[in-house]
Amino acid sequence: MKLECLNCGQTWNWQQFIIKCPCGGRLEIKRDVAGLDGERLKEIFRERLRERMSIYASGVWRYKELIFPELPEDRIVTKYEGNTGLYAPEPIRKNIGIRGLHFKAQSENPSGSFKDNGMTVAVSHGRHLGYTRFACSSTGNTSASLAMYAAMGESSSFVFVPESGISENKVMQTLAYGAKVIRFDGTYDDGIVFLEQYAKDLGLYVCNSINPFRIAGQKSIIYEAAQYLNWELPDWIIVPGGALSNVTAIGKGLEDLWTLGMIPKCPRIALVQAEGASPFHKMMAAGAEKLRPEPEPQTVASALNIGNPPSWKAARRVLEFCRGVTCSVTDEEILLSKQIIDRSGIGCEPASAASLAGLRKLLAEKVIDKDETALCILTGNLLKDTDVLSKMANPGRAAYSSLTVEEIETLL
Ligand SMILES: *Cc1c(COP(=O)(O)O)cnc(C)c1O
Ligand SMILES: [Zn+2]
Repeated sequence: MKLECLNCGQTWNWQQFIIKCPCGGRLEIKRDVAGLDGERLKEIFRERLRERMSIYASGVWRYKELIFPELPEDRIVTKYEGNTGLYAPEPIRKNIGIRGLHFKAQSENPSGSFKDNGMTVAVSHGRHLGYTRFACSSTGNTSASLAMYAAMGESSSFVFVPESGISENKVMQTLAYGAKVIRFDGTYDDGIVFLEQYAKDLGLYVCNSINPFRIAGQKSIIYEAAQYLNWELPDWIIVPGGALSNVTAIGKGLEDLWTLGMIPKCPRIALVQAEGASPFHKMMAAGAEKLRPEPEPQTVASALNIGNPPSWKAARRVLEFCRGVTCSVTDEEILLSKQIIDRSGIGCEPASAASLAGLRKLLAEKVIDKDETALCILTGNLLKDTDVLSKMANPGRAAYSSLTVEEIETLL
């Protein structure tokens, strides 16, 4: 395993931490999976489903051979992340009129979002290198996940969180795990720039979405979905996108499975952004050469409130690989889809619902055919944003103690 600059091609070994190439390019993990035996891996992964306590009970480390084979087992910090539900709610499938529909609920991760799939790998890598101070800039879920793993790994964490436009539940969760939270007057994107500038001098291991070890861990989302579906994935994978780390990871995961002959057909990816924070979709729709950052992103889906996604080049590459498409959806469409997912009993935070909203839109536009099948990635937990919940809720109010049975009957 090596780290390679996406821009100039310079390489490094993995036993060090570098945020960025001196040329300014992002780093990517380069690994040749071609020598691995896909069928043998399937057997190993199936065997590990019986594990309960070892690192292989984790839905990330179960796939260690495809994620980080070199890392010594005793350095791994895990909370048995992954292992999340795969659901096929029939009422939603019928309602939107598609042949097959699944939801992968990464919201069921230990800190409540898919960030755990990647964070276990980044923190384990950092600890192996001897780091005890971890940092990130975050719209909330990254910081909660980092704070949780840093605490599990007996290390400290520092997180930079914008003063506004994020969910307070996530900040409270982060504080509860013992992180130092630094609120600042700026956006997620400003926090990234700050860390890139000062992390080295401060001896911080940075766990932002550009951390290639996080991306490696997030590949497990698609491995696990494929394994649960007996290695036959649907035609489409629908992914909400903010910083674009998840779509990049899922694309790379698909590339691995395809290269190793572990899946008979490679699905296409549909990347969904919130309209008020959709610089990547705009670039793709216009066929533009470069991403134009949006200085004031604005959406109810706080986890998608990112105007300058750092991984846009990598994301564009994986979409090219799997013939991906992009779209954007309004806050209204997001909240309607959230209500549908919540009422199905699965539940999710607003950003996650962008997946279903995007699927509905792409079906209406006939980009996705109703005879095809789709898998929506649900990225965060229902309880991650109680502000939105209380705005959407309309609780009936009555003096229950004084109600008669007949009166209660009318309320049911
Ligand atoms: C981080 C996050 C996203 C966006 O993922 P990116 O990798 O930043 O594109 C979407 N939903 C939730 C709940 C998140 O926490
Ligand atoms: Zn470079």
